[in-house]
Amino acid sequence: MNPESIWILLGVLFLGGAIGFYASRKPRPSAIGEERLRGNYLAGVNFLVNEQPDRALEAFLRAAELDDDTVETHFALGSLYRRRGEVDRAIKIHQNIATRESLEPAQREQAGFALAQDYLKAGLLDRAEKILEPLAAAGAHRMAAMRKLMRIYEQEQEWDRAIAVFRELQKAGRAPQENAIAHYYCELAEAARARDALDEAREHLRAARKEVRRFPRGALVRADIAVEQGDFALAERLLGAVLAYDTALAIEVIPRLVRLARSAGEGGPPAVERVVAGRPDAVNEVAIASIMTDALDFAPLEQRVRTCLAQDDAIAGLVRAIGRDPAALDTRAIADIAAVLRHLAARTPRYRCANCGFSSIDHFWQCPACKSWDSQRPLLRFDLVAGLEGGKKS
Ligand SMILES: [Zn+2]
Repeated sequence: MNPESIWILLGVLFLGGAIGFYASRKPRPSAIGEERLRGNYLAGVNFLVNEQPDRALEAFLRAAELDDDTVETHFALGSLYRRRGEVDRAIKIHQNIATRESLEPAQREQAGFALAQDYLKAGLLDRAEKILEPLAAAGAHRMAAMRKLMRIYEQEQEWDRAIAVFRELQKAGRAPQENAIAHYYCELAEAARARDALDEAREHLRAARKEVRRFPRGALVRADIAVEQGDFALAERLLGAVLAYDTALAIEVIPRLVRLARSAGEGGPPAVERVVAGRPDAVNEVAIASIMTDALDFAPLEQRVRTCLAQDDAIAGLVRAIGRDPAALDTRAIADIAAVLRHLAARTPRYRCANCGFSSIDHFWQCPACKSWDSQRPLLRFDLVAGLEGGKKS
């Protein structure tokens, strides 16, 4: 018997005691009925001990059918199963509760909410949504149901509906993260931009700005539109502002800056110079973004890469190991090293969520694991190089 089964068993034994307690307090329906209840219950424990969880579940369900007071036992068992990842069994239990005719309205709501959580865990978003919508309108689970609906709409990319739920939560002072709604508007803006509806995109961006005044993602999308429309001065100003605001967003700024520079002709390289000069301290952030964007043909970006590589003990050690001076590498050597790093880094996590520690190769505005917005921070070193250090440096 595995340790989790033991927990389940302990839970059932404890709750089984409760059945006995209630059964002894209630006017007895009949001695035969009570005996069947106990018989089914004991059969359930027996199946559980013998690692036959499906038969155990059937026996427990039969046991509880005879006594309404065992509803709480079912809830507890269902949530235990869900936590163990045995969602099918949790669903079976909660469905069984929900179909009882004698349920109190509060218990019916509780059963619905539990079932919605099971469906969410099983990835059955449509079914969860259907149950949560009425629960989000009224009742004891209203706030929790709205928060879950918001996550479902995010996953389904139903941004208008996510905005509507967010507003309701906001009214109740229960919005989980204030900037989430600005991201929803940015999502709408990006979608509009993708189908060339630029006026609509700008409207969504204005709405985002109304929610959060200095919102970097909004500025980035606006910069994309500005580059497309040839308004390079505006794009430069926006990209400079984003980098100045948060150097962790260099990975979003540098590719756009390069696009701007390549579109702007002669005015391109000076624009790169000015934007990067706004944050002289952001050496590694800009260098890593430049390596990943393959943008070393712009002198200020190559300079940051050069400085970053010379300051990195591991890389400097490797360079010395092949008889070169890390502070005096020519452009070709820098480009070669950058190409190797780009290749390695494309397969190694470069971001970590400050909220839950989830790491990823690509940058996400919303953490795929804990769903918080703007929580990913870039790793400012190439981890692989650290791995190579021992073998090459000595
Ligand atoms: Zn996270």
